[in-house]
Amino acid sequence: MTPTGSHRKLAFFGGTFDPVHCGHLSIAKTLVELFGLDLFFFVPAFHAPHKPNTKPTSGYHRFAMLSLATADEERMSASTLELDHAKSRYSFDTLSELKAMYPDDRVIFVMGADSWMDIRTWHRWEEVLLLTDHIVVSRPGYAISFDHVTDAVKGRIVDARGETNSIPIRQTPHIYFTDAVHFDVSATEIRDDIRDDDVLDRTDDVPDVVAKYIEKYELYR
Ligand code: ATP
Repeated sequence: MTPTGSHRKLAFFGGTFDPVHCGHLSIAKTLVELFGLDLFFFVPAFHAPHKPNTKPTSGYHRFAMLSLATADEERMSASTLELDHAKSRYSFDTLSELKAMYPDDRVIFVMGADSWMDIRTWHRWEEVLLLTDHIVVSRPGYAISFDHVTDAVKGRIVDARGETNSIPIRQTPHIYFTDAVHFDVSATEIRDDIRDDDVLDRTDDVPDVVAKYIEKYELYR
């Protein structure tokens, strides 16, 4: 029996994914192995509440790129959960919905270090952190600290940085920190690159299928 009994470990990675890049995909691949995840869902936001002044590319395009990028990965999928709501939603509402949808499984929310450091700006942030399991992934250029969270949240933290083999999910919800992923790229850099040069120069930063899609549909020009 695994430490979590027969419950499946389902990870949900929220973001704009405008576009999905190799940093996002490297997170998924690494976490599936490291935590023995059963499924890893990319959940593109309709419109991120914390980015009110920027209008993302159509959800259809962002979803299509995620679907292409994960087509050959058995455990990875693109989810329409947020796009189906067709409005900006808080993570608290999404995680509450996911818990209700999967009462027999472990719901694990995934975020990068920049999101962790900004967490206090999130609606009902402490409840978000105490509602389910979380995995926080290091990101180049972003230092991680724990000073900004409450003692209740600190009591949930499992600092697994340095562990590269396997990290067991405990019986009760925790917040796991890992530095097993190192991919220095952002979607902003990719969009800026195309806008500046009219072509995607950073070809190592997105999968070929995504690069072809961006080209075909003339995104980010
Ligand atoms: P943008 O530059 O448009 O803000 P982004 O590259 O940060 O985009 P998002 O879709 O906003 O990508 O990110 C979704 C999640 O992925 C966030 O939690 C973010 O912290 C995390 N993330 C994105 N890129 C990386 C990376 N290279 N390493 C670690 N985490 C990352």
